[in-house]
Amino acid sequence: MSPLLNRELPAEDVWYSRPEQVPQIQRLSDDVRFEMQVVSEVMPFRVSGHVVENLIDWDKAPDDPIFRITFPRRNMLEPRAFDLVATAMKRSASQGEVRRLAASIYRQLNPHPGDQTLLNSVFADDVEIEGLQHKYGETVLYFPSEGQTCHSFCTFCFRWAQFVHEPDLRIAMSGSEQLVEYLLDRPQVTDVLITGGDPFVIKSRRLRSLVEPLLTPELERVSTIRFGTKALTFRPQRFLSDSDAGELLELLRLIVARQKHLALMVHFNHWREVEHPRAVAAIHALRDAGAVLRSQSPVLRGINDDPEIWARMWRSQVSHGIAPYYMFVARDTGAKSSFDLPLVRVWTVYRDAVRQVSGLARTARRPVMSASPGKVEFLGPVEAAGERVFALRFLQARDPTWCNRLFFARADEDATWFGDLKPAFGEDKFFFEEPFAELVAARRRRRSGEPASRSLADQDA
Ligand SMILES: *Cc1c(COP(=O)(O)O)cnc(C)c1O
Repeated sequence: MSPLLNRELPAEDVWYSRPEQVPQIQRLSDDVRFEMQVVSEVMPFRVSGHVVENLIDWDKAPDDPIFRITFPRRNMLEPRAFDLVATAMKRSASQGEVRRLAASIYRQLNPHPGDQTLLNSVFADDVEIEGLQHKYGETVLYFPSEGQTCHSFCTFCFRWAQFVHEPDLRIAMSGSEQLVEYLLDRPQVTDVLITGGDPFVIKSRRLRSLVEPLLTPELERVSTIRFGTKALTFRPQRFLSDSDAGELLELLRLIVARQKHLALMVHFNHWREVEHPRAVAAIHALRDAGAVLRSQSPVLRGINDDPEIWARMWRSQVSHGIAPYYMFVARDTGAKSSFDLPLVRVWTVYRDAVRQVSGLARTARRPVMSASPGKVEFLGPVEAAGERVFALRFLQARDPTWCNRLFFARADEDATWFGDLKPAFGEDKFFFEEPFAELVAARRRRRSGEPASRSLADQDA
């Protein structure tokens, strides 16, 4: 993806890599513009012309929800970090100095939440394979190196570390040969999730060369190819009018023709993204190619923390054949403190949205926290044994036997993340804590060179 700022192109086909390049920004106050500049020195920034021209309501900026999806705000950095960078910029510090400042800030922002790099990594013959993650037995995540960018960057992206100038923070694999080799050896894997970034930033021809090897008869048991994407919001042209849009749809048809389930995990935060005519046209082009679309999004303060927004978004999705899948809690990384909400608040958004929609939209899972031991569903506050407690359960876990067992945390009205919660009823540990600590210890030993068997996901299976 090249043309960052090319005036030859129609305005909706350009990309901006700095907020101050966007012409509409002139409407905002000097202070707001300077603050955006400061934050974008640290956190990744890119926005597509389509978002700027067609999705943002500039009369409402900087409070417009779609504006907030891509344009930074001051409180995305801790006040101290903000001041450090602002001061450096005011005295025109060198690019190198600002980069070093930014790098020191990244380390404090939990770049790989959920202990991913320690716990989800993958080994073959005791050598780590870069660019794959395998946390749950059935599903392998594949990060093709050309896909580790996006048509625009979300301010709240939990994969922000993929987009900063820090190669050692990046998860990426070149080619797909090592993926295929890994899968040949792992009969329990049914799903490959191609993710990033956004794999649809990859040119269609190249993407085909990466994906086609997965369609070999030897990998028949890999029955589902998933793609994670936000291109329907950021660049619906990708599926409609780009010069290689047809080739992309052809690749998708090929996957379906090989009798795979082609699953697109599409990311929408607000109904306005779904309802744009160009997104609608792209959704139908993808469905026509045989893809099954499922949607996911975190609940985000100032963007979609309102049940009406979710109810309308789910209704619009269902009307175009998209199945609501995951409602997430904002993960504990990056600019989380700028977007997070108390868990009870997230849960009321779910409760009040879901009761307004048809059963076909109630496929959205309750607020889910993708945490280190697994995906934890927040079932809400309940009265039990005369106490108000929070009910929880694993939808996915590093040890599949943990799934579906109810467990309880003390009601903490301010808690925003799994790590804030403490066991209820006077217990000192959650039921999974000891076995989880053992898994982590085994992993640490393995990292330091002791031989052990395969990945955690394999051990679990
Ligand atoms: C969410 C997730 C998956 C997929 O989970 P599903 O419930 O099958 O959609 C796979 N791997 C990782 C690391 C995940 O976080």
